[in-house]
This record gives sequence, C-alpha cells and structure tokens, in this order.
Amino acid sequence: MKQVLIIGFGKTGKAFYEHEKHLAEVSIYDDRPVEFSEPFLPFDEAKQYDYALISPGVPPNHPVWMHCLQQGIEVYGEIEYAWQELAGHVIGITGTNGKTTTTTLAFEMIRQNHQRTFLAGNIGFALLNYVPESRSDDLYITELSSFQLETTKNFTPLFGAITNLTPDHLKWHGSMTDYINAKFRLFHNKSDLRNIVINRDDPVLIQALSDRGFDPADFTGFSHTTQLEHGCFLKNDQIVFRNGTEEAIMSVDEVRIQGIHNLENCLCAIALAKLANTPNEHIRLVLRQFAGIAHRYELIAEKAGRRFINDSKATNPDSTIPALKSVVRPTVWIAGGMDKGSDFSAMLDYAKDRVEHLILLGENKLIMKQTAITAGLDQIHLVETLDQAFDLAIELTRPGYDILLSPASASWDMYPNFEARGDHFRQLVGAWHV
Ligand code: ADP
Repeated sequence: MKQVLIIGFGKTGKAFYEHEKHLAEVSIYDDRPVEFSEPFLPFDEAKQYDYALISPGVPPNHPVWMHCLQQGIEVYGEIEYAWQELAGHVIGITGTNGKTTTTTLAFEMIRQNHQRTFLAGNIGFALLNYVPESRSDDLYITELSSFQLETTKNFTPLFGAITNLTPDHLKWHGSMTDYINAKFRLFHNKSDLRNIVINRDDPVLIQALSDRGFDPADFTGFSHTTQLEHGCFLKNDQIVFRNGTEEAIMSVDEVRIQGIHNLENCLCAIALAKLANTPNEHIRLVLRQFAGIAHRYELIAEKAGRRFINDSKATNPDSTIPALKSVVRPTVWIAGGMDKGSDFSAMLDYAKDRVEHLILLGENKLIMKQTAITAGLDQIHLVETLDQAFDLAIELTRPGYDILLSPASASWDMYPNFEARGDHFRQLVGAWHV
C-alpha cells in the first residue's frame, strides 16, 4: 500500500484524508496535537513517503515541508491534486480583495445557463470533495488564495481572473515578489492569455505583469475608468463588453450591489461569464438581484428612504476604506470594536469629507474618536451598544441617507465573531418600524 503524509490537519487536511483513506496508508502531521477518531499514523522522519499532501497555510519554510523536499518526496497542494483527478473544468479567481464576491457573482451568472456549475475552493468547498462525482462537462468556479496557488504545478484553469493586487500576507510568502509570483501561477501554464481576466485599473498588477514581460493588452481586462479593446468596461453609464464586437450589457444603475469596489467585482465577473458564453440576459438577471454577500458591504434593506449597509466583515481600517470610498449619499457611519492597536488615521482621512456622523462603540472607541478629531471630523458620538448606535443613527438620518456599519475593528470585545455582529445589525433593521 502507498504511504502518504498529510501535512496540516484542518479542513483541507480532512478532505485529503477522506480521499486517501481507501487508497493509501495515511500519516498525519500537524504542529498541534492531532485529535481524530479514525486510524492514522504519526509523521515518521525515517519513512519514505510516496507523496505528501500539504494544506494551504503551512508556510514554505516549514520543517516538515523542507524534509519532504530534501528527501525527494513529491508534495502536492489540494488544488493541484484535485485538478489532476477532476473531470470537468476549473474557472479560478484570485486577487487580494473581492475574491469571494467575484467568485459568487461569476457562479450565479454562469450557472443560469450551465446546470453543472459548482462553487469551490477557498470559499468553503474543497475542490477535492468534488472529485468522485465529477463529470467532464462540469464547471468549478473556484476561489483561489495565494496559499493555494503557491503549491500548484501543472494546474491550468479553463478561465481565470485576478481581481487586484495589494501587499498582503507578506509574512507567509516572504516578499511582495513571492506573493505576486504565487498569484501569477494562475496562468503560468496558460498559452491563451485572452482567457485570463485582469484588472486594468490596478497599477500594481499592471506593473507586475510588465516587469515579467507580459503585455496587459493580451489579457481580457476590466476597467471602470478606461475603454478597452478586449474586456468589460463602462461607457456612458452602460456596462459594455468588447471582444471583437461590442455589446452593451446593462446600465450601471440597474446593478443592485453597492460600492465602487463591488462594481469592479461585477465587471470582473461579467468578463468571466462572457468568456464562458453566458447570455447577457442571465448576467442582467443576476446583477439586478444580487445584493451582496452577507456582511461584506451588503445592502440589507431600504426602509423609509434609508439604506442599511452591513459591512461587519471589515475588521481592520484597510477593509473599511473601500466602504468609505463608496459613499454616494449622506451617511451615518457606525464603527469601533476590539482594540488591536490599528492605526486609523488614513481611514479617517477618507471619512472626513464623506460621512456626516460617526457613531463609535467598543473597546477602541476613545482612540478612534481622538484620531477622528485629529483628522477633522466633528460629528462624533459615543455609545455603549449596537442597539444604542442604531437608535441614534435613526435619529440622525432622514430619507435619502445611508446607515453604514463598517467597524474597522474585530468584533470579539462584544460578539463571538463578525457574523454575529452583522446579524445583530440585521435584526435591528428588521425590527425597526417607522
Ligand atoms: P476576499 O474573498 O478576497 O477576502 P470579499 O469579496 O470577501 O474578498 O470581500 C471582503 C472585503 O474586501 C469587502 O468587505 C471589502 O471591504 C473589500 N473588497 C471587496 N472587493 C474589493 C475590491 N474589488 N477592491 C478592494 N476591496 C474590496
């Protein structure tokens, strides 16, 4: 029987186990003690494993990984391993931000016209779990993190997209160059770059491509500032796709999901859907209905002329900046939460001319208040609970206003997680009657 080593025993490690247990004798290594009811062997340095399966998040310089490399043991990541065994095709989406939203949008669009379309990857469904039932006409719309791409070798998606690139996860990858190289593994086996969608408005991404000898014009692009030869862009408030011929898909006003960053995600998803031959009517249908993913700049409801936006997933100042950049109506912003020692000054500079009132709660409310005053905000209110914040927000607003929960802080001072915080906000909105 083959000997296989699983490195890292979280969600992916368990998916590996399920797949391997009938094929091989399984050993498991994790930095923490492995508690598992099924039979497995511990990692044994002296053993010559046939191959190793590594979870995303195990850093490249991890001693057990190094050991395998030194011993000539082939190490596979989940995406590579699943892709090799999967019937059907992968449509892969990566980037620093907007992956989940873009993946979900592309999935919703493509599945309107293609029955066997599945959501996979980092979004919560291991690609490997689909292997046993997969069929050659399947499409797997797969969210890919840089950790997952790092360990790919022959992996080639049918279509792919890079939403954007900003410095992130540098600790794991070591440097921005390594991080970018990991992301670019998305297309390193791809001969036809027209099947890869890139953000033409992202200077870091464009520079990184040029530095590596690629011409951005060879890809399919998306842009909300520039008209492109090949790709999805805006023209007189219409969303247009051009690829040889030019088609107007829909008016920007018809798109339900809010926020500039989400418009970018829409343009990216449309480009993917068009590559996959999705009819425009299906694209329109999805974009008229899709209000956003829960807790990510999600438009919860519009009541008495006020729009309620739940951006509870924004747990640090950088992730609140897109929400602030997206302000288009008079806005009351609710922020604050657990104190992580973040620097709020850049974020509050964005807020200064954009929000009318700032309501603060949580452990870091005093620090944020101080920074807000320095940044020039003057309508700042302190409260103790989200209930109080909500009541005050209602008092401060009239029809035509937005009430935005974008805490720029973790939730753990008051909630078990950001989902619970966002759900509380949703309940308050639901319970409010004019
Ligand atoms: P990811 O899966 O890459 O983390 P999500 O779609 O879950 O991305 O969005 C998470 C957060 O990232 C959002 O709440 C928003 O603050 C920010 N975000 C989403 N899309 C973009 C984008 N295109 N550009 C910049 N920031 C974005």
